[in-house]
This record gives sequence, C-alpha cells and structure tokens, in this order.
Amino acid sequence: MAKRDVFQTAREEMVVRQLAERGIRDARVLQAMRDIPRHRFVSAELQHLAYRDCPLPIGDNQTISQPYMVAWMSELLALRGGERVLEVGTGSGYQTAVLCALAGQVYSLERHARLADRAATILAELGLNNVEIHVGDGSQGLADMAPFDAIIVTAAAPALPGPLRSQLHPQGGRMVLPVGDDRQQYLELVTRNGDRWQIERVGAVRFVPLIGRYGFRAVRRDDDDSAVV
Ligand code: SAM
Repeated sequence: MAKRDVFQTAREEMVVRQLAERGIRDARVLQAMRDIPRHRFVSAELQHLAYRDCPLPIGDNQTISQPYMVAWMSELLALRGGERVLEVGTGSGYQTAVLCALAGQVYSLERHARLADRAATILAELGLNNVEIHVGDGSQGLADMAPFDAIIVTAAAPALPGPLRSQLHPQGGRMVLPVGDDRQQYLELVTRNGDRWQIERVGAVRFVPLIGRYGFRAVRRDDDDSAVV
C-alpha cells in the first residue's frame, strides 16, 4: 500500500511531528500511518487538510479522528499481528485501515449505513481484505465472531458496555474505549486475564457519543447524533 503520492511529505511530517515526537513508540503503528493514505478517507474538498493535527467532518454529523488519537488508541491495543479485532464505530474507515495493517482479522461495526458503505469501498480499493464491515449497533458487539483479542470503541460510552466486556478474550484481551458524557470523558484501557480485570484511565478525551442499546439514547427521530441524553 506504500505507494508514493502527492501527500507523501505531509504524511511523513505527520508521523514525525504529531506522533513520534509526542511519544508514540510502536514502530508498527508509525509504519502503518506512514503507509496508509489518510486523504483517501475524506472528501475531495478536505484532502488538503487530511494530514493536519485535527479531526475532520465525514458526513452524518461524524468525524475522522485526529491522527494522534488513532495512533494512541492503536498503540494501547499492543497488537503484534494475527489478532482478531473488533472495532465499534467505523466512521471513515481510516482507523480500520490502520488496524488491518496491525492485526490478522478486523470486524468493524458502524450504525450509519452510508458511512459503512463508503468505508468498505475505500478499504477494498486499497486492497485491504482482512476486514468485514457490519452495519448495526456496535454497543452490542458481534457475538457470533467473539472472542476478540482486542476491542476498540471510537465513540464515547456512558459505561463499559456489558456485551463488549463478555466478548473480550479471557486470556489477555485488551479493550480501549472513551467513557463519559458530553462534559467529561476519559480513555480507558481494559485488560482481562480470566476473572481478573484491570481498568486504567489513560487520559482525558473528547469523542462523539456511542448511540445504542448499551450507549446513549438518540433523542430526536432524525438521527442527529449530537442530540442525546
Ligand atoms: N475512527 C473513525 C475514523 O477515524 O474515521 C472515527 C469514528 S467517529 C469518531 C465515531 C463513529 O462511531 C461514528 O461513525 C458513529 O456513527 C459511530 N457510532 C456511534 N454509535 C455507534 C454504535 N452504537 N454502533 C456503531 N457505530 C456507532
């Protein structure tokens, strides 16, 4: 996938200045983000901003996450290759592409069909075929495909969703997710070893809400994800 393109220099600069110099150490994460053309995951009008240090709109009131956030969450999963990973919140598909480069098989769930379709198309165009995109409520996980060695949630949950907890692999499963409401959220790293659970708050973050049975409830009928309780 590491083809040269007009954004090569901007991408390298992103990796050095926004990721490596801010403490991302996992060489595989840095290489994946050096390789994956982030500009392909945003609309043509926003491509010139694709390597900036910020999230960008992708439609349906959603955003592609800031590059640093993608790198940090990926690094926390400590993937070594070969793992089965569940992602909740496909969004643009960019984080999904990074996971495809780091793990064995990726299952990604998105509640907006339009975003899921677009992400699936781009991932296929990039030749990434170790991924399945599903449309549905990711707060319920994907029981048929469990257990997962790693789970990543890219929208903020009010609390750790029970189904995701039970779908995490009992031997060293790792999950990273933002927990909190629209005033305060923390990124949590959950590790499981049999009946022993460790939950560590690793930093303050800001994400769109996880809308679903084990997430927040959408207030309005028009699916405006910003209107939640
Ligand atoms: N990491 C993604 C990227 O880089 O493009 C960004 C994800 S965006 C911050 C969060 C995504 O979670 C949105 O696309 C939103 O529609 C999705 N989402 C929210 N609640 C969901 C749910 N219950 N199930 C699946 N997806 C959900």
